Amino acid sequence: TFDSSIKFSEFKLNNDGLIPVVVQEYKTGEVLMVAYMNEEAFRKTIETGKMTYYSRSRSTLWTKGETSGHYQYVKALMLDCDKDTILAKVLQIGPACHTGNGSCFYTELVKKEYDDTNPLTVFNEVFNVILDRKKNPKEGSYTNYLFEKGIDKILKKCGEEATEIIIAAKNPDSEELKYEISDFLYHMMVLMAECNLDWSDIVKELAHRR
Ligand code: AMP
Ligand code: ZN
Ligand code: ZN
Ligand code: ZN
Repeated sequence: TFDSSIKFSEFKLNNDGLIPVVVQEYKTGEVLMVAYMNEEAFRKTIETGKMTYYSRSRSTLWTKGETSGHYQYVKALMLDCDKDTILAKVLQIGPACHTGNGSCFYTELVKKEYDDTNPLTVFNEVFNVILDRKKNPKEGSYTNYLFEKGIDKILKKCGEEATEIIIAAKNPDSEELKYEISDFLYHMMVLMAECNLDWSDIVKELAHRR
């Protein structure tokens, strides 16, 4: 399934003969970790479809997940413009970091105030909170109230919020519409979680229709 014309000898290696690999969750684009490959690691990654690196501390080949079970299945390997860095898009099983963090990048060095304006990121974050509530119910959580009441209650709320969108849209001021659409989308995501759908299912379906 992989392009056999990719030649390790064409990569620009660092002084240790290695090439850094930036590893990204293929669905969300989250940067998970950075590791290094030598030629053997690269070949093994292509052969097995599982990310395999060269461990600089242990001086050995290292298939990510071989002891933890947190494997990384290769979805794509990209080479950057000057051929000195690989970008791997992977399906990550469990956390990528050996500390148990989803990503190795959890230590903040610099951060300016910013609003996340990427709708996909925000949808994902909200949806992940909803899934987390379903798994670990939280005292006083409205989301858990909905899950406890069940599908009929969730559907009733979706219907109500849809109606409220229609009413709010008659108002020339779009402020109210903004709230109602947000309410609707939230309840829709609760419905998705209840029915075991996630954003990738929806996005796939929409992309398919293009
Ligand atoms: P694993 O490959 O997940 O079975 O972990 C095996 C060993 O590889 C761990 O004990 C760590 O020493 C190392 N390791 C695993 N994941 C990472 C990572 N994201 N960054 C650096 N070292 C790691
Ligand atoms: Zn460039
Ligand atoms: Zn580069
Ligand atoms: Zn780590």
